[in-house]
Amino acid sequence: MKILIVGSEMSPLVKTGGLGDVLGSLPAALRKLGNDVRMFLPYYRIIDKQKPRTQTIISEASLNMPTGKTEYQVELLLDKNSSIGQFLIVNDIYFGREGIYFNPATNSDYVDNDERYAFFCRAILDCIQKQNWQPDIIHLNDWHTSLIAVYLKTNEKNNKFFEATKTVLTIHNMAYQGKFDKERFELLGLPDALVQSEGPMESNGQTNFLKGGISFSDKIVTVSQTYAREIQNDQGCGLESQLKKRVKDLSGIINGVDYSVWNPNKDKHIFANYRISNLSGKKVNKIELLNEIGLPVRSQVPLIGMVTRLVEQKGIALILESAQKLFENDIQMVVLGTGEKRLEHELAALSNQYPDKLKTFFKFDEVLAHKIEAASDIFLMPSMFEPCGLNQMYSLKYGTPPVVHKVGGLADTVREFDTETGEGNGFLFDKFNSKSMLAALNRAIQLYQKKRSWTKLMKNGMKLDLSWNKSAREYHTLFENLLSGG
Ligand code: ADP
Repeated sequence: MKILIVGSEMSPLVKTGGLGDVLGSLPAALRKLGNDVRMFLPYYRIIDKQKPRTQTIISEASLNMPTGKTEYQVELLLDKNSSIGQFLIVNDIYFGREGIYFNPATNSDYVDNDERYAFFCRAILDCIQKQNWQPDIIHLNDWHTSLIAVYLKTNEKNNKFFEATKTVLTIHNMAYQGKFDKERFELLGLPDALVQSEGPMESNGQTNFLKGGISFSDKIVTVSQTYAREIQNDQGCGLESQLKKRVKDLSGIINGVDYSVWNPNKDKHIFANYRISNLSGKKVNKIELLNEIGLPVRSQVPLIGMVTRLVEQKGIALILESAQKLFENDIQMVVLGTGEKRLEHELAALSNQYPDKLKTFFKFDEVLAHKIEAASDIFLMPSMFEPCGLNQMYSLKYGTPPVVHKVGGLADTVREFDTETGEGNGFLFDKFNSKSMLAALNRAIQLYQKKRSWTKLMKNGMKLDLSWNKSAREYHTLFENLLSGG
């Protein structure tokens, strides 16, 4: 199959969260299954800083946007390991900016994000026609590329080039829908009927890109089976009924882990490598990290790690609420995250209050993220909702049992440890409140002192295969069935 994967992030070039990880690894997994895979990504300034523009501009073209003629260039990066063509759409006015979605100067999203990603979608469709490369499947990811499905079913409806092309939209998080003022709709160059009240791109008086993708994509995937059910009920962020209408075409496929990046036996970022048959390196990681971040080295005390965006979704409120009780325990904790300033300030205040117990880092730091996975004894993810979640899967591989709220992908990947049978890989709590979170954490803290059971728990997680092998095959089968009319 010819598969075109489009999205707004791709690790390691540009990543703000799990979407970047997925688009950094799924294409290679699909390539391994024998598919011809190409990708498109915007050429952001941050990419220019890592890979200065070379002689790899392969074409120049212009688009007739509603605002006038807009030039773009296409740069080709060839990933030597996987032979996937990675195409970057270059337009400095739209993408040569300091931030990705967010303008650091105004502390808010770029006001023209609608126009930027509409341009990106149109440039992709234009470019593949010029390349005469007809994809069987276009795999869209989140609201940024949802408009491709809309353009194909409206403006491009009679375009023979796309006659056999099918679209599959993966929704990584319903909380981000790409909502914009209707007054700006004309910038997209789409029929007005789409945003009439209750139209396929209208929601609560606004233009809604994700709703457009849900309305017009041939199939819809979300990133775990539990989340696929949840979003039809109360986690659809206002689009529940739209999703219910498409229930026959909606399914859940859990994201895979890229074990060439996240594997304690090979990880280049950590202090010492280790594996299931020899865990001694894990202790080295803990001692070295505690030294590096300035917490006292107390190897019998469990170190709790968190790596997270600091937004309401991630359940930081539960930690703030329960801080006094939490830190009554003999524990240490390290938190790495960026996001809402209010949460950063409150966490910073907490670390001042408990200087020997809590260290916080407010930056995006890939190396520190790996070190925290390797050094921690327990990984905490008290997310209010979690479509898939990657960090709990990384922590399982790193022998760092996760404590998680039983929702979405967390519920699908973490099993409560049973001290009788020795089965299970972590700790879950049902109700989203600090009391339930503390109860699950306390179960973990107590078991940590029972070395034999704890080692069994660690190994149960490390043994699991949560790689892309299975999930990429599920995507492959879904694409094949779609093409054969299923
Ligand atoms: P989400 O996509 O909602 O942010 P996921 O768990 O799916 O959550 O993926 C988050 C990814 O982003 C993980 O790879 C995690 O390690 C990474 N990450 C989040 N915050 C940071 C940070 N401050 N520094 C480094 N990596 C981070």
